[in-house]
Amino acid sequence: MSNRNYCKHFRVPTDGSLDLAHIDANFTDCHDTKADALKEIRRYARRLRELQYLLYAENKHSLLIVLQAMDAGGKDGTIRHVLGYMNPQGCRVVAFKVPSAREMAHDFLWRVHQQVPMRGEVAIFNRSHYEDVLVTRVHQRITEKTWQERYARINAFETLLSDNGTHVLKFFLHISAEEQLKRFRKRLEDPARHWKISEADYTERQYWHEYQQAYTDALNHCNSETAPWYVIPANHKWFRNLAVSRIVVETLEGLDMQLPRAHVDIEALRKKYHRLLDP
Ligand code: ATP
Ligand code: MG
Repeated sequence: MSNRNYCKHFRVPTDGSLDLAHIDANFTDCHDTKADALKEIRRYARRLRELQYLLYAENKHSLLIVLQAMDAGGKDGTIRHVLGYMNPQGCRVVAFKVPSAREMAHDFLWRVHQQVPMRGEVAIFNRSHYEDVLVTRVHQRITEKTWQERYARINAFETLLSDNGTHVLKFFLHISAEEQLKRFRKRLEDPARHWKISEADYTERQYWHEYQQAYTDALNHCNSETAPWYVIPANHKWFRNLAVSRIVVETLEGLDMQLPRAHVDIEALRKKYHRLLDP
């Protein structure tokens, strides 16, 4: 097992110097294979379950996990892994698609703010308010002035959440262009995955460099101490799952959460009722 602090290692630098082109999407730390990492993957998954139980019981903090990636980047798989170990009571996934007419008639944060987690809860965003500085920018539906203004609005919004006890963790699942093509081909070849592929996946791929640039800028501009971005090497699904769960675990462990005290006299209850049960 690696001694690295994953929160530090995968954190986007705060000096604005992130360049996605220099990040190796194949990185797997000290593990060569999934079999190698299995013990560690299970360990962090189990710990995730315990910590979510504490978060729910303590009812003091909330956790917002934002997932962004290129198409086929593995958002769904990450959600299955991370959520698979949590109690569904206390967890929620929200997918943000093309905004509806009603959503479009509001400011871009309106639909997002309604979905943030309440105290004790974990919410996972499958895409997010970041789409409004990514896809909209790449397709030139907004001007540079607008996307620059939106960075400031996003930062103010995330500060508001953080001041209210929400811990915001943002993950960019970083795959290479070749890996994306491989995953698209797999979807074409496997009938069970046919439903997942669309022509838009291939047409959007033509904008790969524009997306990488938009991601680089967004990650550099909206990366505060209280709402940090992490770039996760995601060509290997098992490593992606390990890295995300490890960062969530490290963050939750830093909160020093405590189980609430009993609100009744346990000893008195034990005496009163267990005497009846065990004559
Ligand atoms: P999958 O990986 O299964 O394809 P997905 O998240 O890509 O999942 P889709 O229904 O294929 O889901 O795509 C959702 C689309 O909605 C994406 O193309 C995304 O860019 C778009 N979208 C999300 N938010 C916005 C937004 N605010 N403005 C414009 N488009 C948006
Ligand atoms: Mg899609």
